[in-house]
Amino acid sequence: MNLYELKLAAMEDAMNFLECPFCFLDEALYKMYFNRLLNNVLDQDYRKEWLSGGGLCSKHSLMLLEKGSATGQAILYQDLLNNWQKTWLENKFVCPVCQKIDYNFEDSKKAFIWGLKNRPEFYEGFLSSDGLCRDHFVKLYQELAFDTRFQELLVTVQDKAFCRLNKQLDQLLRQHSYNYQGKKDQPSLRSWKKAARYFISGVEKKYRV
Ligand SMILES: [Zn+2]
Ligand SMILES: [Zn+2]
Repeated sequence: MNLYELKLAAMEDAMNFLECPFCFLDEALYKMYFNRLLNNVLDQDYRKEWLSGGGLCSKHSLMLLEKGSATGQAILYQDLLNNWQKTWLENKFVCPVCQKIDYNFEDSKKAFIWGLKNRPEFYEGFLSSDGLCRDHFVKLYQELAFDTRFQELLVTVQDKAFCRLNKQLDQLLRQHSYNYQGKKDQPSLRSWKKAARYFISGVEKKYRV
């Protein structure tokens, strides 16, 4: 089986759901990492990473907090409180989740490019997708400087997606006007949130872990 198979399948799902394929893969990583961290607090490797990095960055600490688990978090934070000077006095923080996300992106990027080159159905899926979130677009676009064909493809897909979204936003504004009589179109009513998500990154609530 091709090494990229699992990633490509997940990215194809994401594109069918009109989600950013890279955010979708990040979400799977969050699920795996946070569950492991909280449910196996005694896992020495995870605990060591947590302690030596001085905890997670603010974004990922907040995500962890939202997962609950009072006892799991109590144990983890005790580690940090008992050893706070090691990292705080030297300002040496390394978020293991950020590290894994970066590492994951490198791998996903290769799979993505492989898929576009070798899988016509993957290519087609991307063509009719909603493109990428801002962060992933910018990152990928810069790294594709060696191949302007792919840069152009990214721009085309993104531009088409934004045209569709813009029409929905127009429709939303029309529907909110006092003299609008027609039937309300649901995707248009939600389009302002969709627009914001391009700038926030991450997946829609129903796909979150
Ligand atoms: Zn994204
Ligand atoms: Zn982080």
